[in-house]
Parts: sequence; structure tokens; C-alpha cells
Amino acid sequence: MILILLGPPGSGKGTQAQRLVERYGIVQLSTGEMLRAAAAAKTDFGLQAKEVMDRGSLVSDDIVIGIIAERIGEPDCANGFILDGFPRNVAQAEVLDLMMAEKGLTLDQVICINVDEDILFTRIETRAAETGGERADDNATTLRHRLDVYHSLTAPIIPYYTDSGKFFAVDGMRNIDDVSEEIYAILD
Ligand code: AMP
Repeated sequence: MILILLGPPGSGKGTQAQRLVERYGIVQLSTGEMLRAAAAAKTDFGLQAKEVMDRGSLVSDDIVIGIIAERIGEPDCANGFILDGFPRNVAQAEVLDLMMAEKGLTLDQVICINVDEDILFTRIETRAAETGGERADDNATTLRHRLDVYHSLTAPIIPYYTDSGKFFAVDGMRNIDDVSEEIYAILD
């Protein structure tokens, strides 16, 4: 099973991805997590990426595409994977199609978690408090910018997927269990 989880920052993609990992025995590929790990390890591209991430802008396509291209070829992805945070613009979506075709892989579903934006500010503040402010981009000012980036660059990939019949939107305003159930009903 190969899935894409879409949705604005704080919509619950990471939480739902973890549940899907357990339920379907597939792996979660979060480009944000991989970039944060590279930044923590102080690799060259990790340090470059950190500055961009802290501002809430998008890291260059070359970097994230390189990461994903390498990662989806690893043995633990053979059972399937969830792309959490990738693709984030139309160029990445197009390259993903090519990469998958080259590897003989087929995308099964794209799940988009819709939420009212007001709640995202509360959720991000809660996450910042719970993690002790671990993520420099978890604050209201950067969130405003991340939402602008989501609308201008990421949301335009939705029409790219709607025509394929693989696109499903779920209501992310309900509690975590209900959102999971709605996703399971689509996937099962
Ligand atoms: P996330 O953990 O998904 O919220 O991502 C955190 C940050 O990592 C984003 O605000 C971007 O700066 C960067 N990032 C994650 N995935 C991508 C991507 N596919 N393309 C560009 N930048 C990304």
C-alpha cells in the first residue's frame, strides 16, 4: 500500500500516519522528520535545510526529492509506505510519479486531512508546549507563513490527484479516533 497524506501543518498527518503504520505494517516517510534528523546530525544539507525550515519555507526540491528517491528504494519500503509531507508542490508530485513509474510502483490513495485554520494555531501552541518548543517552526508567526506556503504551493497539487480517482478528503476537525476510522474505511 502506497499512500500520500496531505493537509496543512498541524492537521494531524503525523498522528494518523503512525496509526496507519501499526495497522497496515507499512512505513512512514516524513520528509520533515528526515530533514530535522539531518539538521540534528549537522550534515551539510541538514544545516542548510534547518535555516529554511525554521522560517517555515520549503526546502529545495533537489534535497527532498533526493531523500525520497533514496528512501523508497530501501528494503523496509517493500511492503508499502506513507508519504507524510511529500510532495509539497506540483514539481515534487510530477517527479514522484516518474520515480514510482521507474521503480514499478503504483500510488494507491491520497488522503487529505481538512481542518479549519483557527484550530491549527491552538494545536501548534499545544504541540510546542508538549515538546518544550523543540521545533523552531512551531509558533504563530511561522505557522502563518507555513499556511501561506501550503495554500500557494501545496494545495495546487490537489487537482493533480483528483482526476485519478485516488483522492479522498477527510474531516480532520473530529477527534483523532474518528478521523482514523474514516481513513481506515477508505483504505480497507
Ligand atoms: P513538516 O514536519 O512536514 O511540518 O515539515 C517541516 C518543514 O520541513 C517544512 O516547513 C519545510 O521547511 C520542510 N519540508 C518538509 N517536507 C518538505 C518537502 N516535501 N518539500 C520542501 N520542504 C519540506
